[in-house]
Parts: sequence; C-alpha cells; structure tokens
Amino acid sequence: MNPEHEIRLLPEDLQNQIAAGEVVERPASVLKELIENALDAAATRIHIQIRDGGQSLIKISDNGHGIAAEQLGLALTRHATSKLATLRDLHDIRSFGFRGEALPSIASVSRFRLSSAQVTGEGATLEVLHGKQIRRIQTAMPRGTEIEVNDLFTNIPARLKFLKQPATETRKCADIVLRMALANLHVEFEFLQADRTVFHFLAGQALADRLCAAWPEPILRGVSAIGMTTDGLRIDGLAGDPSTAQARPDRILLYVNKRPVQDKTMLSAVREAYRGRILGKEYPQALVFLEIPAAEVDVNVHPAKTEIRFQDESSVFRAVRRAVLASLDARASARVMPSDARQFAPDAPRPVQPITPLPLEHPIPPIQGARENVPAYAIHDEPKFAMTKNAESLFTPDASVQQPPSSPAPDEVTSEPIPISRTEDTHFRYLGQIAATYLVLSTPRGLSLVDQHAAHERVIHDLLRQHGTRGERQPLLMPLEIHLHPSQTHVVQEVWNDLTGLGFSLELKTAQRLLAHAIPSLLSPGKAKEFLEDILATKPTSMDDLWATMACKSAIKAGDNLTADEALSLLEAWRKLPDRRYCPHGRPVEVSWSIPDLEKLFKRRP
Ligand code: ADP
Ligand code: MG
Repeated sequence: MNPEHEIRLLPEDLQNQIAAGEVVERPASVLKELIENALDAAATRIHIQIRDGGQSLIKISDNGHGIAAEQLGLALTRHATSKLATLRDLHDIRSFGFRGEALPSIASVSRFRLSSAQVTGEGATLEVLHGKQIRRIQTAMPRGTEIEVNDLFTNIPARLKFLKQPATETRKCADIVLRMALANLHVEFEFLQADRTVFHFLAGQALADRLCAAWPEPILRGVSAIGMTTDGLRIDGLAGDPSTAQARPDRILLYVNKRPVQDKTMLSAVREAYRGRILGKEYPQALVFLEIPAAEVDVNVHPAKTEIRFQDESSVFRAVRRAVLASLDARASARVMPSDARQFAPDAPRPVQPITPLPLEHPIPPIQGARENVPAYAIHDEPKFAMTKNAESLFTPDASVQQPPSSPAPDEVTSEPIPISRTEDTHFRYLGQIAATYLVLSTPRGLSLVDQHAAHERVIHDLLRQHGTRGERQPLLMPLEIHLHPSQTHVVQEVWNDLTGLGFSLELKTAQRLLAHAIPSLLSPGKAKEFLEDILATKPTSMDDLWATMACKSAIKAGDNLTADEALSLLEAWRKLPDRRYCPHGRPVEVSWSIPDLEKLFKRRP
C-alpha cells in the first residue's frame, strides 16, 4: 500500500476544528450557541461579558440545571448531547441545540473553561486548550453553568484575520443577545462590553421595552401588534408603521418557535403584506414570531441552525402574510375613526369598513366636465352643500389658505364655491386645489393635503380588486394594434387570461402583431394601448401589478384642474376605502397636520 494514499481517521481535535469552521464563524456565533445552551437548560438569568469584540473573552453564566461533574468531559465530546436520543426525536426538535457540536467546536479553537454545578456548592471545572483537556478541579459555585472562551481563533490565524474591527464584532454580539432576549421575555439578560453594561433586561419585561434598546423611538411609537392563529399556526409580533419604512432590511426580525431565523418564505410574506403601502425599494420594520408544530419544520439544514425548511411553505407564507396584513388593516381602519382611539386588539382586528360594491352593469359616472375619458369611481349619494358658514368648521374661511377668487394660477388654491361633505364617520371640508395636483382639506383633526392622482389610483385599484375579473368592456370599431418584440410573445401568453378578465379581447394576428378588439371601459383607446405596452415591457408578476398599472393609466393626472364637484366626488370615494393611505405603488396619498402640529408650526406651543 502506498502510504501517501492511506485512509486515516482524523484526530479528534482536528475533526472538531473542521466542525468549528461551520458552527462558529465569529464571536457572535459562539455567543449564540452558548445562549441557546443556557436557554435549553431552563435558565431564567443569563449574564454575558465580552472583551475586544469577543475575541479575547466571552464569558457567560446562567442559573440553569447545570451539568453533572462526571459528564463535563462528555459535554465537550463531539456528537454528545442530552437533547436528542433517537432518530424520531430529530423530526420533532423542541430544544435549540441537538447536534452536540457547539461546545467541542468552540473548545477546539480557544482557551476554554467550563464550570457547572447541578447542586449549589458541588461544582466542577474543566479547562481545555485548543481541544485538549488540561485541568479538572472541584469548584464551589451556585447551581448553573459558567463558560469562559478566551483567545478565540488564536490557533487558526486564517479565521482570526477574517474578524472585523472589535467594534463591529461587539455590535454583532449585541445583536445576537438582543435577538435572543426579544424571544425570551421571561429570562433576565445582562450584557457587558468590557466592564460597561450594554443592556440589562429584567425578567418579565414587555417586548417593546426590550426593543427600545435597538429601535428608535419614532419607529416604536408607530408599531402595531400582530396576533393571529390560523391554519394551526400561531403568529405574534409587531409591525412597523408603513410610513417609517426604510432602505435598510435589518429591522425585519423573524423567529420560528423562538429560534431566530433567516427565512425567505417568511420574509417575502412580510414584504407582500406591506406591498402597496411602501415603496418597492423600502423595507418595513417587523418582528414576527411563528409557532409551528416542531414536526412541520426542519431546523437541521445547516450547523448554525438559522436556516430552516418548512414542510408546507405556502401555508406559512399565507399565514404570516394574513397576520401582518390584519395588523396593518386594523391600524388603517383605526385611523379612519374620527377620534384618536387607535387601540387595536391583536386577535380581533377592528372590522374593516365594508366597501359598497359598485354594480358594474351601471357604468360608473365619470366626474362631470371631465376631460377625455376620466374614469370612474363611486359617486356618493350623500348631499353636498355649498359651504358658506359652517358651525363645525375648524377654519374660518378667511383664515384658510384660500386666495381671492381671481384667475387661479397653478400655485394657488382655486376658490370656487366650496361644498362641504359628510360621511358617517368623518367630516371634512374641501378647501381647494393647489398646483392642480393637491386637494386641500380641513378635517376634525387638522389640515390634510391629498395627492389627486394617488387618491384616484387607490380608488380605481380597489374597484379593480373587487371587480377586476369581470370588467366592463368597450368594443372598438378599429382594433388597437400592438407591435410585439419577439421576446414579448411568451409574455402575452402568460398574461392572456388576466387581460381577458380585465376586459380586453385580444387576437394574436402574427407572432409580432397583437390586436385588441375590445378594451376595459375604464381606459381610453390611447391609454389602453399604453397599458398593454407597459404590461408587455415590464412582465407583471401578479394580478395586483396589472391592477396597479391599470389604475395608474386611468387615474386623473397631477396637473388636471378639477372642479369642486369633481374633487369632492373623488374625495368621498377615496375616504370610504378601508386602506387609503398609500397609492398602489406605495407613495403616500395624504399628508396631514393635526391641530397640535399646526400649533407647533406657528410656535403657539413648544
Ligand atoms: P447541543 O446543545 O447540541 O446538545 P452542545 O455542544 O451545545 O450540544 O452542548 C452539549 C451538551 O452540554 C448539551 O446537550 C447539554 O447537555 C450540555 N450543556 C451545554 N451547555 C449547558 C448549560 N449552559 N447548562 C446545562 N447544560 C449544558
Ligand atoms: Mg448547544
């Protein structure tokens, strides 16, 4: 036998160092494993200290059930665990750990000290250097476990070189402590960097009280509770206000059975719930705890256990999206209420106001005096009054932003006779239009500006969402003709049924010529052509995309002068929507100032 090709078993410390490459990437991942062990040991108090970003020291002590003195060596042996006994257990994991890899891995790349006692006063300590046991002593210590990891990675220079600045590693450690602390409110966590306390969370604290260590106050003020049981899944957490969305994705924290995870299914469910309320490039803040039967999730995908696999991804997706949506809708409908009562009960979101369905057999009247095919939204039948003196008005007319009734320039507020309108739950007074784009309203809360295009888009989008698949169509005498790029032929086929549902009647004359013999009555022929060209160029991924594009094409534009009646009809239709704060692309429809806001602006109050 050629000794060069001889197969040998690797020495145990080398095996552990190789495993360490996967389990412990940096100080924060060491810390995560050690916190998980403490939680698995039913600790209610976890004390952590690090130095130099965790590289020179990570020290963690807990008051859990401890390890028997004679088993300390076993705890440091690879594949030795107290948490898993049979293959069946592997399919029903209820503890954080189960692989029996963390302690031996960490001990193989550091100067390591494990002390533990199952009974106060009867503890033992084991000291290990780079995987080799060097000392064992008896220790008098309280019940629990204390682990010290010194000089991490000094025997693996490649790993050491790869660590970032201590400040960055410290931040990553703090992130991990916080993430674990958010899911275990019954446990006291104290975290010190060198000798300075970074956090000290007391047992039994509220989620938001812990979160305020990481999220700025304005974000926290806007969060609403998530809480729903659906399809046998329980979802809890907090959803940030869409208006505080940011370009950074790092404030979406996902958990499965209290385990912090990175999971695409849950992430896309959260983003989908916010769709239409935030811009495509923005990320919301959300904290989502999913409780799922252990047998329905595989946590044994990667040694670090932050990746998971669901047996039924689509039911998880649906459940998470529903729960987050309910929280956002409850918030949106809470805002419809005239009072400031924005309470929401997580399990019973405030019922969303029903939208009266529009009978599409009766084409919806366009706003009077409208330009070319200004489309449709509900015209309410509540009375409109000419506004002269109204006792309920918050502004007297002369104190308002009105301009003299001479020629309205684009930058001025037009001052036609101004009607007042009431609906059941809200009063508002239309004051005029600015720059032929923004509608000015006086509301019981204060002053609002409404973007007319965005509001109209929202109205049409909602209409389509309700009636989209049986849209009214108008036949064309002269069919519209669209020239197709070869790459677009398959897109046409993919969206064919959806377009037909919207009211198009299409014919593919040749591979490059698409004819439309009928179009949705919401669109003028010119806009219908633009719509088809847009759709074929952007390849929509959902019905919602189609509706958003259609709403955008058919909505009145910025720069369109509206009569007061037109503006009022639009506002009435828009204010009846349960969710009306954002246009389908996620831009805000309304910007408002409360009376206290105004008082602040005018320095009437601090
Ligand atoms: P795993 O957590 O996958 O079982 P570890 O290597 O992390 O593997 O730990 C090995 C074993 O050591 C655990 O199964 C547990 O019995 C014991 N152990 C580790 N840390 C603690 C602790 N803080 N308190 C009590 N027991 C512990
Ligand atoms: Mg473990």
